[in-house]
Amino acid sequence: MKEENKSFLKVDSIVKTYGDNDNFNRVIDGISFELEKGVLCALLGPSGSGKSTLLNVIGGLENIDSGRVIVDGIDVTSLSSKKLTEYRREKLGFVFQFYNLIGDLNVKENIEVGAEIVGNPMDIHELINSLGLEEHWNKLPSQISGGQQQRCAIGRALVKKPKLLLCDEPTGALDYKTSKDILRLIEKIVEEYGTTVIIATHNEEITRMAQRILRIKDGKVVLDIINDDVKKASELEW
Ligand code: ADP
Ligand code: MG
Repeated sequence: MKEENKSFLKVDSIVKTYGDNDNFNRVIDGISFELEKGVLCALLGPSGSGKSTLLNVIGGLENIDSGRVIVDGIDVTSLSSKKLTEYRREKLGFVFQFYNLIGDLNVKENIEVGAEIVGNPMDIHELINSLGLEEHWNKLPSQISGGQQQRCAIGRALVKKPKLLLCDEPTGALDYKTSKDILRLIEKIVEEYGTTVIIATHNEEITRMAQRILRIKDGKVVLDIINDDVKKASELEW
């Protein structure tokens, strides 16, 4: 296999359990998949199927029982805590359903929080423009809409130029049209920056945009569709 064809992300036989004998929960039950660089991947599945846990494992926020996660050549599952912190700071952006912005910082300052931790951040002014927040940069989170807050959170995740962006139900708190705008913004990011993105979502709009669709249930991959089948996937009943 040629070097450039090697996968950017390799998730290999992940098992994650919670609890003990009386109350045992195999939340991730042998999940494997690979993603190329610059792919937008939709992670679908009912509530409780393990989407957030899987994103947290890939993001180095959860220990696993067995398996491996390789991101850009780094085995995330075997890093020391110092190296793990570096990985999260330098390679990874995380976006959550409820934005998690700092309430007494304005939009620009919230984005700067993401920039502080790396040496070569994006131009914040340009980023604010491309997020459509140029008229809101000096407002507090409480003074802007949910969609604008999520744009800000995406900016905070992106400003450090992460190679991998993990989004956990980023449109879960937004109305239909705003959700669509946010998904389009994420699609644009993939195209412009070549960021690899995994979005856990219930929003079926994503099936029209993603090059890869993974559906999980009870901690297992039950559907895995690549590229050309995207349209077909959007016609499936979920
Ligand atoms: P999803 O994001 O698809 O809704 P989650 O990954 O949040 O699913 O949860 C998958 C399963 O793992 C659920 O059954 C949930 O109750 C369980 N779970 C998640 N986090 C914990 C935890 N910290 N302790 C025990 N069980 C957990
Ligand atoms: Mg979840």
